[in-house]
Amino acid sequence: MYDSIDEAIKVKFAESQSILIVSHIRPDGDAVGSLLGLGLALIHQGKAVQMVLEDGLPDKYLPLSGSDLVRRTAQGEFDMSIVVDCSDIERTGSVLSNISKPDLNIDHHKTNLNFAALNLVEADSVATAATLAEHMPSWGLEIDCAVASCLLTGIIADTIGFRTSNISAQALRLSADLIDKGADLPKLYRQTLVSRSFEAIGFWGAGLNRLGRDGAIVWASLTLDDRRKIGYPDDDDADLINILAAIGDAKIAIIFVEHENGSVKVSWRAQAGIDVSGIALSFGGGGHAAAAGVDIQGDLTEVRDSVIQATKVLLAETFASKNNKILVEEEKGEHKYG
Ligand code: 5GP
Ligand code: MN
Repeated sequence: MYDSIDEAIKVKFAESQSILIVSHIRPDGDAVGSLLGLGLALIHQGKAVQMVLEDGLPDKYLPLSGSDLVRRTAQGEFDMSIVVDCSDIERTGSVLSNISKPDLNIDHHKTNLNFAALNLVEADSVATAATLAEHMPSWGLEIDCAVASCLLTGIIADTIGFRTSNISAQALRLSADLIDKGADLPKLYRQTLVSRSFEAIGFWGAGLNRLGRDGAIVWASLTLDDRRKIGYPDDDDADLINILAAIGDAKIAIIFVEHENGSVKVSWRAQAGIDVSGIALSFGGGGHAAAAGVDIQGDLTEVRDSVIQATKVLLAETFASKNNKILVEEEKGEHKYG
């Protein structure tokens, strides 16, 4: 056996010539940045790499190096298969249907199911791309300007521009190192977070017309009809959730997106001190304390009502346990809340 997971990963890379890398359906910036960053570094080492996203690459990431190499299906056999930024194997879609157990799982979701032979799962890492930036040198992989640009994209995306509550000095140090390698922060920041199509802003407008609130929970819904009328081409929420999460006195923001296959995509965002990963997991999804999601089969109104109800229970329980903690700590003379 090996002394460390880094050594085991390095040996597996050395033994492998053809390598498959996959990430999740409806890929976000961390999925794309991690896939491309790791893939490019392995290609530079002379490996035959296939990078696969079942839903393809969102247009905004086309400027990244290696974007033209991303495919929607895997072709042939591989010496090694790697899953990045996925807490469970179902999140990859059907790309791995011929592979029962991937060789390597690199991720940062606390709900990760450790489904591979080697699992590098760092729940306190801000992004899978940050985990890669930290570990790739110890696997003998070089982070050049192209790789650094992909990895910085992943960090910018998952920290919403370095402002999530899990941001750390170490994540900023890793990002600074990527900038030193040539990654262009302002350009990548605008490309990943700021720039929007005209249709995306129109789609926000439709969702904001259905803005709802119950105490500290706010939500909005996006219907298939909105999408068609406005001509928004993708099947995501155009990041409208981040606008809802800007409401200062809301503790939890939720967005519901109706899909053609009869399911509703639900995304939660929580303020610090509230953990929405468990509620997502209880509906069959997953994520982080501050950001989690799930696809639920069913009608938009029914899904919305049951999710809001469950979220109200979560919020009530969270405050009840905090109040209990205040009482206990007051007894101990260590009042920390309020
Ligand atoms: P979003 O709601 O923006 O799609 O995702 C927020 C977080 O929850 C991300 O870390 C994402 O990977 C995770 N997540 C979203 N949807 C699902 C899902 O259906 N299954 C799992 N396991 N994780 C999800
Ligand atoms: Mn991620």
